[in-house]
Amino acid sequence: MVLIGPGGVGKGTVARRLLELDRTLWLSRSWTTRAPRPSETGEEYVFVDRGSFEAAIARDFFYEWAEFHGHLYGTPRPDPPEGRDVLLEIEVQGARQVRQRDNDAVIILLTAPTMALLEQRLRGRGDHEEHVARRLESTRHEIDQGRVLCDHEVVNDNIERASHEILSILEGLRQSRRIPT
Ligand code: 5GP
Repeated sequence: MVLIGPGGVGKGTVARRLLELDRTLWLSRSWTTRAPRPSETGEEYVFVDRGSFEAAIARDFFYEWAEFHGHLYGTPRPDPPEGRDVLLEIEVQGARQVRQRDNDAVIILLTAPTMALLEQRLRGRGDHEEHVARRLESTRHEIDQGRVLCDHEVVNDNIERASHEILSILEGLRQSRRIPT
């Protein structure tokens, strides 16, 4: 399952809630060349320099990777424990690569109830103003491209409600794909 959506929409928070609610989900830990934010603990990503990232690309380490606002982000080839469903929280170029590789992937676009709320959330993360402005510019693109690609769009008006909506989509898929015994 792939969660996409513009910056500030709450993908990370929803992903964490999904993991609490559904113990069969397994969240992939991405690599990035972005520096950790002051609010981050270091667990959010494997933070690496560009050279290490490019060396990993060269040895075909990534399932998907993309450049986003000047930084590289990539998902290592997933190796989940038996019986777990993989959850990716990525941007839209990466989701397009996942779609090409795995037709069974379900892509969920998370959107905000209003653009004003999205802007407020982006600012609340403590990023530089210039960075916030660039992220806002790409919001429209992320949503438009996301709509073309996604199987479902979920509005994050409330974390609990949105998380449960995603889980019911997932449950429906599990039922429909279950092999009869
Ligand atoms: P941030 O810098 O705000 O943590 O992440 C920027 C964007 O990169 C977000 O949309 C996030 O979902 C996305 N992202 C995080 N990890 C990956 C990844 O492994 N691959 C791709 N393609 N995007 C990622």
